[in-house]
Amino acid sequence: MNISLRQDSILAGETAWREIDLSAVASNYRAIRAVVGPTTRILPCLKQDAYGCGAGQVAATLATEGVDSFGVVSIRDALAVRKAVPAAQILMYAGIGPKAVDLVWDLDLTITISGEEDLRRWLLTRVRLRVFVKVDLGFWRAGVAPAGLERLLDLCATEPAITLDGVYAHLSEFGEAGSSAAEQVARLTPILERLKASGRLPATVMVSSSDTMIRHPEFDFDAVDPGALLFGVACPQLGGRDLVTRPALSAIKARIIALKQCDDSLGPSPRLPGYQASMRLAVLGIGWGHGVPRRLAPGSAAIVGGRRVPIVPPAHLEHLRIDVTDVPDIKLGDEAILLGHSGTSRITLPEIAAAWNTDEVGVSCGLRDSLVRCYAAHPSRLNQEKGE
Ligand SMILES: *Cc1c(COP(=O)(O)O)cnc(C)c1O
Repeated sequence: MNISLRQDSILAGETAWREIDLSAVASNYRAIRAVVGPTTRILPCLKQDAYGCGAGQVAATLATEGVDSFGVVSIRDALAVRKAVPAAQILMYAGIGPKAVDLVWDLDLTITISGEEDLRRWLLTRVRLRVFVKVDLGFWRAGVAPAGLERLLDLCATEPAITLDGVYAHLSEFGEAGSSAAEQVARLTPILERLKASGRLPATVMVSSSDTMIRHPEFDFDAVDPGALLFGVACPQLGGRDLVTRPALSAIKARIIALKQCDDSLGPSPRLPGYQASMRLAVLGIGWGHGVPRRLAPGSAAIVGGRRVPIVPPAHLEHLRIDVTDVPDIKLGDEAILLGHSGTSRITLPEIAAAWNTDEVGVSCGLRDSLVRCYAAHPSRLNQEKGE
């Protein structure tokens, strides 16, 4: 028995995978750079394993574009970014606490301080810390309330153990139900003016992620931290900045692992939509264990042999059925496409998002680790994920 298997031969045996186009990430980054101009810092948000695209691989790609700082939430993502770009500044968004102090030190992480109690707990570690202060401008989530911001910044400034790099906010996504971006930023600007007048303004002020960056060029300040836009999963709204992005998640594919002509010996066909007597049925090696939802919208399709075919419910942990009655020439082992294109048939990210009852970010971030990633720097040359 040979157990020293090579990573690429393990991957060759996978029944399902996603394809990530890193050149899309690079070109989306350049599009963002073009609209914010040469002096605004871009701090890409690589949380949730870079929106499902692989934090290490994305960080390495962006480093070649000149990016030197990133934002993440989890230690796992921080570690991947640190390995890929040893000299990067890594901002930990609100999340980790002082129990992670050894990792913060070892990985040289910049932490977020969201309030006075948060600061006191970190100070008990007696470790030198680089920090950003987070302010909550009306998202009702992490961050110090505007009323407490100046005092918190002053406390940070007087602590010898603290190096204060900046202040940031993440603006609300309540839409009609909450304050507008302009109303939120208006809670910050008078404070910034006072800080500036007294020489207490931190070096970096950052409030814009994808949505605000598109709609409000006036809120770029010193830095922006877009996530979704970088992965091509945020749609630029009408009336905002004009920039074209492409999705980094370029395909979701699975192999046909079972194929049969159904007949009477199987008993009556299940009384569910899409089943019929003597149909030709293919089973794909992908299921809700890979992040496909358990319930797909009626009319969901896949592409095999260049043709669209219906997905037949329900989805299982590792299997999905398709009706291939009308595609006689397909074979066991053939690839089926849940997202992507073949010939003139195409399933786009908006289409799969609708079928999965979510949005594009939901598809990209909802895929599980068990769905391996293949990297296509160039669409015709697929490089499979390298093992750790
Ligand atoms: C998620 C997040 C971002 C990125 O948001 P997008 O809408 O994906 O651009 C930026 N900053 C913080 C603090 C976040 O939590």
